[in-house]
Amino acid sequence: MLRTVIVGGIRYFTSSAASTMSCQRLKGKVAVVTASTDGIGFSVARRLAQEGAKVMISSRKEVNVKKAVDQLVSEGLSVSGIVCHVGKSDDRRQLLNETKSKYGGLDILVSNAAVNPVVSPIFDCAEEVWDKIMDINVKSTFLLMKEFLPLLRESKTPSIVIMSSVAAYDPFNLLGVYSISKTALVALCKASSEELATDGIRVNCIAPGIIRTKFSKPLYESEAANEIAMSRIAMQRIGLPEEISGIAAFLASDDSSYITGETIVASGGMSSRL
Ligand code: NAP
Repeated sequence: MLRTVIVGGIRYFTSSAASTMSCQRLKGKVAVVTASTDGIGFSVARRLAQEGAKVMISSRKEVNVKKAVDQLVSEGLSVSGIVCHVGKSDDRRQLLNETKSKYGGLDILVSNAAVNPVVSPIFDCAEEVWDKIMDINVKSTFLLMKEFLPLLRESKTPSIVIMSSVAAYDPFNLLGVYSISKTALVALCKASSEELATDGIRVNCIAPGIIRTKFSKPLYESEAANEIAMSRIAMQRIGLPEEISGIAAFLASDDSSYITGETIVASGGMSSRL
């Protein structure tokens, strides 16, 4: 639930951790959210669970998984967790098996993990760095989708949500290769949605703008970075993870039953056309 706070004339939103919401449109559904122990992924996991889903949390570090699960369980939500580095096939297999054995199926897959190991001009990017970004951001999303398809095909209302970025449309300065990977995800969403439509599996993307998380600190923390960010954001503020998680819940729910292959941009009005 979002509350409005005004600081120095600027409107911010803060969230309160309501354990249940009156909107229970995901009741009876099972969701997997990758990279869900912090930031946007954590907020998506919480929101899906608040709307009634059973949610499998995961990320690379066990300590983070435990902390996130403990927090959400203490809020009365139905979640469990497992370690999963999305770039490791064994980890992805265990995530699949754990979801099957714990919840017996899957209705919602949110592919949220991404890395950006460097801040540099495109042609300063070393081959290994290019490979790492494409491996985690693009290839792992593709493999995760492919490996979870048999489980999703058993669902009556399967939905895949991919976390792209507004950088997919308008590359961030010095984040060129990351931006390219996010454009590839928009294309993956479009291409796979066409193939999976006849199976009844919807695939959609979210393209957040600059959202207040650890990942995006370099884009807003210093005065200079904040000034550049504000020059691009019509709404003149950084977004919050909770302003993305509601979109994920919508795309995962039957409220979006006639939407597939689309990307929803939530960026406070940044430029977002290819
Ligand atoms: P964040 O706050 O830094 O959270 C990162 C999460 O990812 C943590 O839970 C981390 O936990 C996990 N993680 C990192 N590498 C992983 C891997 N290889 N496998 C599995 N889990 C991994 O990041 P965020 O800002 O929420 O970003 C989430 C997604 O939103 C990314 O796809 C990002 O590109 C996208 N996005 C973010 C923004 C923004 O401004 N924040 C804007 C547009 C798009 P562990 O350390 O335990 O693995």
